Amino acid sequence: MDNSANRLLVVDDQPDILDFVGQVAESVGYSVRLANDARQFRDAVRAFQPTLMILDLQMPQTDGIELIRELGMLGTRATILISSGMDQRVLQSAEQLGLSHGLKMAGFLQKPIMLADLEAILGQHLCAPRVPTEEELRRAIDRAQLLVHYQPKCTLRDGRWAVAGVEGLIRWEHPELGLVYPDAFISLAEKTGLIAALTDFVLQEGIRQLGLWRAQGTNLDLSVNLSPHLVRELDFPDRLADLMRAHQLPNSRLMLEITETAALEDPARTRDILTRLRVKDFGLSLDDFGTGFSSLTQLYRMPFNELKVDKSLGMELHQSGEARTIVRSLIDLAHNLGLRVCTEGVETPGALAFLETAGSDYVQGYYLGRPMAATAIPPLVADPPALAATA
Ligand code: C2E
Ligand code: MG
Ligand code: MG
Repeated sequence: MDNSANRLLVVDDQPDILDFVGQVAESVGYSVRLANDARQFRDAVRAFQPTLMILDLQMPQTDGIELIRELGMLGTRATILISSGMDQRVLQSAEQLGLSHGLKMAGFLQKPIMLADLEAILGQHLCAPRVPTEEELRRAIDRAQLLVHYQPKCTLRDGRWAVAGVEGLIRWEHPELGLVYPDAFISLAEKTGLIAALTDFVLQEGIRQLGLWRAQGTNLDLSVNLSPHLVRELDFPDRLADLMRAHQLPNSRLMLEITETAALEDPARTRDILTRLRVKDFGLSLDDFGTGFSSLTQLYRMPFNELKVDKSLGMELHQSGEARTIVRSLIDLAHNLGLRVCTEGVETPGALAFLETAGSDYVQGYYLGRPMAATAIPPLVADPPALAATA
């Protein structure tokens, strides 16, 4: 992938417009990709991961509305500008559609495109790779700028994929930067010790939400990511059990996801805490398996009861025979060790069909549902997307 901070994808069926916008954008400081049909567009979204898109609403085979819907399904984080010569009402309803899919819609570029307008708008969206500071993160915790989104985790029930649980994923509603995703601040939180407060927030909020759903008749499991630094506090299992009790939830409803590297550090103390968590009936999942410093030994040294196959493998299943072989082997390995398997990064029906045959106990990915606000979960549980099993 291109590593520059400003990556622009321009989609238009007119080559002269593509050239014009592309040249101006490069002079302003963007790295640019041009697409003049839907296939090129899809390839570029995946491989180039643009930060900004300029999308023409009127295209011959696929229209811009269809592309907006697709971007919604893909969960793209790019900012989107609509370019068109159409009347304001059409543009506004296209923008509304994008917003309702959770996209970052940033307005319009009226055609014919004027050089000065284009330079101004591209300049506005040029992001200096500004990263949040420690002070801002501290304030975010105090001022309730953090929130939790929930991504469905599905399992096969009566021949259909049904939502069995959710993974709570933290987000930061930053006053200037907008919605900030965890990759941009988890390591800062870990370095500064703020990770403890942040994790407390996710646990408290997630468990409260689980209690609320249960009171409304929706019984779900919750998975929460646990930072390495917290697997050192000896009183953690007891604090967690108190929190579950306060919401009248059985401990077995909570799964803690820990990464391999976390499990590697300070093994004796880690094993003490993890074992006590398991004795109390909390679930333990080895997250992001298949990346970084994989150590198979963690699987039998530590009391995990779930293995989570990393999304980088899940995302390759539909196109890579090697990925399919690796995932199939990991599933068998985990099952032979008595662990359940959850495969992440399921983005296509092909990947889902493969995982069903390979025997993945749980699946998680954009194809089954993106991380979403708590209110969107019960409707999804009641009326799951039509994902009939294929086997
Ligand atoms: P993770 O625990 O492996 O979470 C899954 C990540 O993969 C999420 O990104 C999710 O949005 C993304 N994802 C899920 N399905 C798909 C898919 O089909 N395709 C693609 N391309 N991506 C998919 P997110 O929310 O940005 O989280 C990134 C990482 O940040 C998480 O990875 C986790 O390690 C960390 N994180 C998130 N919340 C917390 C938290 O509360 N505490 C700690 N310590 N870490 C957290
Ligand atoms: Mg996780
Ligand atoms: Mg993961």
